Amino acid sequence: MQLTLINFAYLVASVLFILGLKGLTHPRTAVRGNLLGALAMLLAVVVTLLDQRVVTFEYILAGIVIGALIGSAFAARIPMTSMPELVAVFNGFGGIASVLVAGAALFEATDLGASSVRFTISTAASGIIGAVTFFGSLIAFLKLAEFVKKSWSGGAIKMLNVLLSLGCLGASAWLVIEPGSYEAYWLAVALAALLGIFLVVPIGGADMPVVIAFLNSCSGLAAAATGFVLGNNILIIAGSLVGASGLILTQIMCKAMNRSLGNVFFGGVGDAATDVGSDEEVYAGKVKSTSADEVAMLFDTARRVVIVPGYGMAVAQAQHAVRDLANELETRGIDVEYAIHPVAGRMPGHMNVLLAEAEVPYEKLVEMDVINPSFQQTDVVLVIGANDVVNPLARQADSGPIAGMPILDVDKARTVVVVKRSLSPGFAGIPNPLFAADNSLMFFGSAKEAVLDLVAAVKES
Ligand code: NDP
Repeated sequence: MQLTLINFAYLVASVLFILGLKGLTHPRTAVRGNLLGALAMLLAVVVTLLDQRVVTFEYILAGIVIGALIGSAFAARIPMTSMPELVAVFNGFGGIASVLVAGAALFEATDLGASSVRFTISTAASGIIGAVTFFGSLIAFLKLAEFVKKSWSGGAIKMLNVLLSLGCLGASAWLVIEPGSYEAYWLAVALAALLGIFLVVPIGGADMPVVIAFLNSCSGLAAAATGFVLGNNILIIAGSLVGASGLILTQIMCKAMNRSLGNVFFGGVGDAATDVGSDEEVYAGKVKSTSADEVAMLFDTARRVVIVPGYGMAVAQAQHAVRDLANELETRGIDVEYAIHPVAGRMPGHMNVLLAEAEVPYEKLVEMDVINPSFQQTDVVLVIGANDVVNPLARQADSGPIAGMPILDVDKARTVVVVKRSLSPGFAGIPNPLFAADNSLMFFGSAKEAVLDLVAAVKES
């Protein structure tokens, strides 16, 4: 296929990618956006395969078959609640692919004896960013799956990271000066691998959403660098789009956590030691439990109800029952809205996706900043499987993992009903004084059954 034709097809694919991204900015156009993105990818792949530089199709076919088998086996087995871990690993695979492709390109180029400065710099960038992405994502996976629970931080790790970064730069310089040097490339990759590990190891608590968004962005930047290595325009454009949108998401997540990116990676606040009181001190003698019938009676006199979904709603797959409850309340003339915290659940946008799946109208989902001032005029707040995002301790400077994180101010409502199975902590691992507050009632149970009981009780009342 002619080069001009290939580049024209890549241009069309790029425009489709951009239109697809635009579509994804609103739930109403998101499905179309997704389809446009998929079409763009199909076009890009087909055109790349028709490129005359492809020497043999056997390896490509074998790769597609093996990759598809492994990918679909993973995706089919993984429960919905472990999706964030899977996303973390897939980000990582994008990174390691860039490392290997850039390494192979270096091998080929030195065979031919032609290595420009642009080529060596982009090869080093591809190897370094790719390795940081892969190994950082592995640690993020282990943390999200709770295989690694502790976060090690401190001056030594910060110093080590500075040294590793300098090492990566040094190895890159070596590669530029001596373009044929595999040693320089693999040294940069090895140092970047350690950097990826030690960058993510200290981060814990509520800062993980920022890390996930950042690694996602890195996988795009690594792909863009590989695009420069191969001289492939579509890879440069698609990688840059992923990198840029990931950075915007990272920025949004940082804002939601009231942190700067530097503070997340180097501040070490994510898991800082805390003195927020033991469970006994926070809860003893102060927790009041309630039943479905009692909550239905509260709804009887309520005019405004706000539902706060959290990770527990996702685990229990209670979103359809929650929608039924909201419908039931609305038919009784009650104003119902959903308060969405940006880091509720285990991945960015988790609650929006679940509630959209249950066909909750998008206008009913209200963002934190908008809904917070209205809690004082809310009769009943129903917290379903959320914990950290409604923990008033976040307002205290020394509350460790969630210190300074903006929260949903549900404690300001007239009555708060919390649906969860026990007094166990959330992701950040600290007690929640909301559960012991005077205006709080605990409705113990798994979210789906509890909400179904509520629907039945409301219907009977
Ligand atoms: P939390 O993790 O704070 O709390 C979830 C609560 O759900 C637990 O206290 C648990 O209590 C309850 N729960 C678990 N299973 C069920 C069930 N079957 N039925 C009812 N309740 C259940 O969730 P939040 O959504 O409030 O906060 C999210 C946290 O996750 C934040 O700390 C955030 O930083 C972090 N995070 C978010 C990411 C993102 O991108 N959104 C990514 C990574 C981390 P019990 O066991 O008693 O039922």
